[in-house]
Amino acid sequence: MSEIEKGGISVQTEHIFPIIKKWLYSEKEIFIREIVSNSVDAITKLRRLSSIGEADFASENYRVDVTVDKDAKTLTVSDNGIGMTEDELKKYLCNIALSGAMDFISKYEGSEESGTGIIGHFGLGFYSAFMAADRVEVITKSFSDAPSVRWTCDESGEYEITEGERETHGTDVIMHINADSEEYLDYHRVLAVLQKYCSFMTEDIYLHGEDEHECECGHDHGEDEECECKHEEKPINDKAPLWQKSPSECTEEEYKEFYRKVFPGRRDPLFHIHINADYPLNFKGILYFPRIDSEFESLEGEVKLYYNSVFVADNIKEVIPEYMLMLCGVLDCPDLPLNVSRSYLQNSAYVSKISAHIAKKVADKLTSMANTEREAYEKIWGDIRTFIEYGCLKDRKFNEKVKDAVLFRDTDDKCVTLSEYLEEAKDTHEKTVYYTTDKTAQAQYISMFRAKGFRVCVLDTVIDSQYITMLERENDGLKFLRVDSDISGALSDKEAETADSEAVKAAFVKASGDETLEVRFAKLDDENVPAMLGTSEENRRFEDMMRIYGVSKGDIPPKAALTVNTSSPLIKSLEEKLSSGDEKADILAKSIYRLATLSFRRLSGDEMKDFLSESYEILKMI
Ligand code: ADP
Repeated sequence: MSEIEKGGISVQTEHIFPIIKKWLYSEKEIFIREIVSNSVDAITKLRRLSSIGEADFASENYRVDVTVDKDAKTLTVSDNGIGMTEDELKKYLCNIALSGAMDFISKYEGSEESGTGIIGHFGLGFYSAFMAADRVEVITKSFSDAPSVRWTCDESGEYEITEGERETHGTDVIMHINADSEEYLDYHRVLAVLQKYCSFMTEDIYLHGEDEHECECGHDHGEDEECECKHEEKPINDKAPLWQKSPSECTEEEYKEFYRKVFPGRRDPLFHIHINADYPLNFKGILYFPRIDSEFESLEGEVKLYYNSVFVADNIKEVIPEYMLMLCGVLDCPDLPLNVSRSYLQNSAYVSKISAHIAKKVADKLTSMANTEREAYEKIWGDIRTFIEYGCLKDRKFNEKVKDAVLFRDTDDKCVTLSEYLEEAKDTHEKTVYYTTDKTAQAQYISMFRAKGFRVCVLDTVIDSQYITMLERENDGLKFLRVDSDISGALSDKEAETADSEAVKAAFVKASGDETLEVRFAKLDDENVPAMLGTSEENRRFEDMMRIYGVSKGDIPPKAALTVNTSSPLIKSLEEKLSSGDEKADILAKSIYRLATLSFRRLSGDEMKDFLSESYEILKMI
């Protein structure tokens, strides 16, 4: 071909070019991803043809070279892939086949709505080069015998085709960077973009054109000095990212290393899940459960989305179940369009299936750890439990799957599952789980249950209380009782009323100043405790709820019943004093009542004042 052929990009380019420029301005850097991934595709195509015997380049040293030339103001992407014949070039690059794209453009022209979906979606990837370049040259030679061609196109869409000078198959895309985009003439800037988008692309990618004095070895050799270091040329990417491998081929150390590389600065994760879903979902990925145990660490995870190893976007929340947003990791979803928009993600059935699949995988992993690595699982349980319980509350399916992997930690720091607890309890307190929300404040009550050999679970978060309410709803007859709500379970003799009970009862009613005080009698195992207060589980939960919703401020103490210990010498002494008309009976009943209140809840200011003056009175008697 000796003549110059001229033409204009068909299909109203005067619309396309300004829109490409305007809409994509904020994400201008993706033009590098588009051009480099075209090169990778071109190599993949030639590899495939060679593998089926249609071409003979199986042992070729395939590579993509990106070169920054500050002086010439060009950024060049070269590959030794399939190349194009003149006809192919005209077909692929001179026609923007886009009736659909034109509709889209006319609909959104002038709107500020993110238009990034248009690129790639309508096969406009190549044209994104015009966001940063005012002129683009393509020199290409097909793997077939066809001669090389050169195509030059400027911003107006006017192009020229002349003879090209490539001798071997492949394509060079030379972008003449415009004045607004000079950052892409900076080696480090281009390196950062390549690392962001192309780190896991499937063919070797090299970057050339360091700063004048700085060479690849990292040494500054000065202006005239030649670099004598023997440094090996290293691609910027990792062609075989871990998620593409089968989980059985990956080691624990590799998973950790990958995490450190993709999420530098974070501490090693608690565990990971490698997902390899094929038909019908077809996506891969590795998700890590990060370590979040200090208030300084962000709860927010980070999931990077890839499309056949090409980076698409960060933090795609729509793909992750909302209760799993602390996960960090990578997902490769080749069935999503390369340029996904938020609204697409929010409405896509495929995306919600991915999300459900992730929830299932997380549940499977937890169950398998609970069954096969119980010790290690117990160690991390404290870090993950809030998230898991929250997940159970939010998602019934997740709850169903994971319920046997939910652990309860007891007051001795041992862990049990609900079914283990109930199995243990079946002869003594069937279907009842005793728990405490505060090991210190409820110590006296806990020790009563512990003395009987009952396990007491520590449930001290807001989520815990919602979680147990859900468990009760879902398991017929199951009850969670806080240790101070109903101590009858810890008593040896429930029917232990004494003969003088009426007088003792009256003394405590008087001491409490509450006419409606409920007084019960029981024989406690511990003689040292004369009386204990307790409120019913339902009452307390109701009051807790009122407090959470701000209906009550918690300034009215919960209504509590008093259990009087008939085996206590102090109660015996009270009875004697009452029957002999000893006036000390009043002060004794008052003190016993105050002490029971003190171990049950915090005293109010007035109560504390009274308590102190009563105590001084008693001291005076000694
Ligand atoms: P898409 O890649 O989505 O098809 P593009 O606008 O990026 O859309 O590219 C259009 C076509 O141009 C590609 O499908 C391919 O056939 C051809 N092409 C682009 N870059 C190259 C290249 N480096 N080597 C060979 N062919 C290419």
